Amino acid sequence: MDTPSDALARIRAFVSERLLDATLERDFITLPFREVQPRLDALRAEVKSLGLWAPQVPRSLGGLELPFLTFARVGEALGQSPFGHYVFNCQAPDSGNMELLHAHGSAAQKVQWLEPLARGDIRSCFAMTEPGHAGSNPVFMSSRAIRDGDDYVIDGHKWFTSGADGAAFTIIMVVTDPDAPPHARASQVIVPMDAPGVTRVRNISVMGHAGDGWPTHSEMRFDGVRVPVTNRIGDEGAGFALAQERLGPGRIHHGMRWLGICERAIDLSCRYAVSRELSPGHPLAEQQAVQHMLADSRAEVDAARLLVLDAAQQIDANGVHASRDAVSTLKFFVAGVLQRVLDRAIQVHGALGVTDDTPLAFWYRHERAARIYDGPDEVHKTVVAKRMLKAYGFGAR
Ligand SMILES: Cc1cc2nc3c(=O)[nH]c(=O)nc-3n(C[C@H](O)[C@H](O)[C@H](O)COP(=O)(O)OP(=O)(O)OC[C@H]3O[C@@H](n4cnc5c(N)ncnc54)[C@H](O)[C@@H]3O)c2cc1C
Repeated sequence: MDTPSDALARIRAFVSERLLDATLERDFITLPFREVQPRLDALRAEVKSLGLWAPQVPRSLGGLELPFLTFARVGEALGQSPFGHYVFNCQAPDSGNMELLHAHGSAAQKVQWLEPLARGDIRSCFAMTEPGHAGSNPVFMSSRAIRDGDDYVIDGHKWFTSGADGAAFTIIMVVTDPDAPPHARASQVIVPMDAPGVTRVRNISVMGHAGDGWPTHSEMRFDGVRVPVTNRIGDEGAGFALAQERLGPGRIHHGMRWLGICERAIDLSCRYAVSRELSPGHPLAEQQAVQHMLADSRAEVDAARLLVLDAAQQIDANGVHASRDAVSTLKFFVAGVLQRVLDRAIQVHGALGVTDDTPLAFWYRHERAARIYDGPDEVHKTVVAKRMLKAYGFGAR
């Protein structure tokens, strides 16, 4: 059996040898997902046969069960490819759903939903945000589940449900008791996507691209959807607490994936800078302005990595709740670094940078949202600043 560092080394090697494939990357970015999926599935089979499948998942479910901090490093390695996480079955939102079901699912839920998810036989999604309410306030929603005998009857309107197209089930956040205190009103309930009353209205066009299959974000309607009460995850009213528990590690995973993107952007920029000649024998790399862009990116990425790993260590040692300031700090800081590093990389590449001949423009389009999802910058900055100011008496009255 591999040690965690052996597994990490083998995963890094697989990424550079098998995933950084310019043709496959261009096809993934420009063709419908369903046309590229057979090639990605072949890579998934290879990963399984190498014993590297689902690095975050327990061994009892067929995964590698890597320690949290090693998996953070894995996330950076996989982030260098737009489909790295998918090929290893640790893509969002399935990865978070697996963690949730493993920690809080009933025995029956684990057999029916977690096991096939961990095998990669099905996909899933997570429906919390509603078009009619500010997603930044997670206790503000109107989707309802009303108890009727042994069932819940669910009505709601959600959007930005990532990966809904082709998913076998969603975990929906719904109000189960509107009279409870705000943080105890909602529950998380498993809804099969083929249940009567579930409609995937559309794949939302994001930066000009609606897409199909896994890399999509859908608008969803739930009209009188009936599911057994046993589909609820955890206690009634525990939805908000479960969501918070999921988001701490989730932000570490996003942060490390973003750093993988940054490393790839720096690598592509350096390669281009030494090969693109401004005049015979004089590459772009001679220009101090280009050198400074590379150095700025290097410094920001290295600083960002220390922040993410420090937050991951805090979660490991003290739990998610005690680490929330560190998590908020990395969330807004690293999302900003990602945006700036991609922007510089595109600048270094000139016109090539805005084409889909490299993955830079794809990431620039799709990762603009990093400053919005899992809590916009402003929300995280407020969390951090309020705690800083508390030490000076702010908010005491
Ligand atoms: C690509 C992508 C994927 C997503 N995937 C999912 C998913 O799978 N499942 C899911 O349920 N949701 C998903 N979301 C939704 C995401 O969680 C929400 O977009 C996010 O919570 C923000 O909510 P909102 O869009 O309603 O913005 P709003 O809450 O309407 O906020 C709008 C803006 O107001 C400002 N703002 C908000 N609050 C404050 C504040 N307290 N102080 C100062 N300024 C503030 C911010 O600038 C913010 O961007 C996804 C979103 C995107 C873009």
